[in-house]
Amino acid sequence: MIKVGIPRALLYYQYYPMWKTFFETLGAEVEVSAPTNKTALNVGVSRAVADTCLPVKVLLGHAISLLDKCDCLFIPAVTSLGGKTYNCSKVIGLPNITRALIPECPLILSPEINVEKGRYHLYRNIYKLGCHFTSNPFKLKRAVEEAWESNLVYRNKMSDEGIMPDQAVEEICQQNYEPEPSLNSSPFRIAVIGHPYVLYDEYINHRLISWLQSREIKIFTPEMVSQEALNAAAKRLVGDPHWSFEADIIGAGEYYLETGIDGVINVSVFGCGPDSMMVGFVQHRAKELEIPFLPLTLDEHSSEGGLLTRLEAFVDMIKRRGRICV
Ligand code: SF4
Repeated sequence: MIKVGIPRALLYYQYYPMWKTFFETLGAEVEVSAPTNKTALNVGVSRAVADTCLPVKVLLGHAISLLDKCDCLFIPAVTSLGGKTYNCSKVIGLPNITRALIPECPLILSPEINVEKGRYHLYRNIYKLGCHFTSNPFKLKRAVEEAWESNLVYRNKMSDEGIMPDQAVEEICQQNYEPEPSLNSSPFRIAVIGHPYVLYDEYINHRLISWLQSREIKIFTPEMVSQEALNAAAKRLVGDPHWSFEADIIGAGEYYLETGIDGVINVSVFGCGPDSMMVGFVQHRAKELEIPFLPLTLDEHSSEGGLLTRLEAFVDMIKRRGRICV
């Protein structure tokens, strides 16, 4: 049985259930790297040039941790999912970056996903990927259909039930999983926006979301809103999008600001070109609506102490404002 390694980084947080279903339906075994830790990060940092963004360094560390555990790695080049929006060049070039910086890598399965090039191009690339596992086109068709269904279940679960990716993945992938009831009924609501691979990687963000929840703050993230609502909100604020992640940052920011949320925290990473342009729109809008906004920028040197001090001050300010308004 072919073992496919999937690095727990970057697009993993958006598509893992879909990828897992696809490969398993084709008879492969899926091996996911462990959650980010100090070793994975340091190894990734040691391979990349300094100004590479943190999530790419993290991906390199995860890829290296999988080298002796799988027959091939799955790192797709997701260029565009349509709507004339494109991913950033680092996401598009990820398979090539990985090959260049980790020459000892096994085969990298790296289909180009570019909906802008039309259906034929997309189907042909998925077919070529599937041919590594089967020559039966019906089996491949079933794998694609089941994978897509799994993706819809994952997305809907997060937006309908207001849960985060890790919980959704556990509920979908572990049949006997019983979710813990949410006891957080705090009157204070903060939206935490940013790329999913930054928001949900607890090692690089120093458990930011868990920390806020422990301060009795109810947290809202982009994944808790349907894609349609995010796209519509982004369009209301800036018109037609150019970047694939505009919905997650501009769309989520605008959506939550319109609901009159108590505060917005944007978590971005040092060296991210798209973020540096997108965050300004949300920050400006928050100022217009007089809603507190905290921009946080992380890199591999960010200290937990410095981050928590800023969060502490932000939460205190929100709670004080709330009491004054009551
Ligand atoms: S969007 Fe930003 S954080 Fe994400 S891969 Fe590109 S440069 Fe890095």
